[in-house]
Amino acid sequence: MKILVVGSGGREHALAWKLAQSERIQMVYVAPGNGGTARDIRLVNVDLTDPEQLAEFVQREGIALTVVGPETPLAAGIVNLFRGRGLKIFGPTKEAAQLESSKDFAKAFMQRHGIPTATYQTFSDVAQAHAYIDANGAPIVIKADGLAAGKGVVVAMTLEEAHQAVDHMLADNRFGDAGARIVIEEFLAGEEASFIVMCDGKNILALATSQDHKRLKDADEGPNTGGMGAYSPAPIVTPAMHARVMREIINPTINGMAKDGIPFTGFLYAGLMIDDKGNPKTLEFNCRMGDPETQPIMARLKSDLVTVMEHAVNGTLDTVELEWDRRTAVGVVMAAAGYPDDPRKSDVIDGIPAETPECVTFHAGTQQAGGKLVTSGGRVLCVVGLGDSVKMAQKQAYETVDKIHFNGAQFRRDIGWRGLKH
Ligand code: ATP
Repeated sequence: MKILVVGSGGREHALAWKLAQSERIQMVYVAPGNGGTARDIRLVNVDLTDPEQLAEFVQREGIALTVVGPETPLAAGIVNLFRGRGLKIFGPTKEAAQLESSKDFAKAFMQRHGIPTATYQTFSDVAQAHAYIDANGAPIVIKADGLAAGKGVVVAMTLEEAHQAVDHMLADNRFGDAGARIVIEEFLAGEEASFIVMCDGKNILALATSQDHKRLKDADEGPNTGGMGAYSPAPIVTPAMHARVMREIINPTINGMAKDGIPFTGFLYAGLMIDDKGNPKTLEFNCRMGDPETQPIMARLKSDLVTVMEHAVNGTLDTVELEWDRRTAVGVVMAAAGYPDDPRKSDVIDGIPAETPECVTFHAGTQQAGGKLVTSGGRVLCVVGLGDSVKMAQKQAYETVDKIHFNGAQFRRDIGWRGLKH
């Protein structure tokens, strides 16, 4: 069987790597892929990003199914286009992807269906937004309505920061259309966790839990990033918490979407905040897998992902039970100099060791140039170590990180620290 993975990040490398392990696979194509997918002899990069051209490629090559990594093509309607041509694809339609592509849509949806989340209001008027902030005080959270690559959220600890965020988004139009409306919501305190499920429109299959590390520096300091590392499983999601999240958040979301006439298919990612009393609330939905959460999750998945994907596009996920490696996986992101503001490109990368049962290195912002592997984006690699405890998984990951070199590499030394605490 031939499969296409759409995207070019570490998430897509991990998905393609896992799919390629299946005995049933003839070829895994990655469009456009990266330097890592180019080097893997079981994978083939395809230099296409336009959905129309991708659909033609799939038809021409007889590709059985397509898996979409990032949100942008989903929000643009790649699933609608493929389905319109009778092609099997795993992901949400443009309409269902609004759970991620419009924060106002997601908040109104959660309110309508009684899904726990921060209280909020949506604004397009600058004066009304300022007045709401004055009435509610700080800390408070300001979010651009549309997709802003993780940069559209300001957690304002002071009134001044909050007012400034409103001015940037609404008055100065920093995010263009994505910031023409903003959501202002209650600040939630607690511990975050990533809860990801697969859905075929009616059946839900939960993946292993994980936790992301958004800040650039150790101890969660420095600016927000796309994610500097993740580990799985997340001990804060105990079996009881898992059941509660399914009951209070995931099931009502999938049922609510079906009730509203926009059934959800694809990966659904609920970003949770669990307060100190153990009550989970939804911070956000993503309509795809997380990056870097995918990397440790795929490193732990034992089941054949090709078979799982087939059930997902055929509406038979209820027949699937996933098998997981019992070990912990810790994924450490190595980012380029200047990340997140202005990542430097073209630094030569050396020393990536061969994969072992304890460690695998996934590529993101890398490319082959003149026989060398060089940096080509903000997050360059994600090194995933596996071990019987968080500590042992960290040891595996950092031993490899220390062997890899590129000028200006930035990485955290404490990925998984919350797991050590539990
Ligand atoms: P991404 O898709 O990159 O995860 P995003 O732009 O969709 O980010 P959110 O996930 O909604 O944004 O928010 C980013 C981060 O901001 C969260 O991971 C969380 O740390 C913080 N955050 C968001 N909403 C709140 C809130 N109500 N209270 C406290 N912190 C929040």
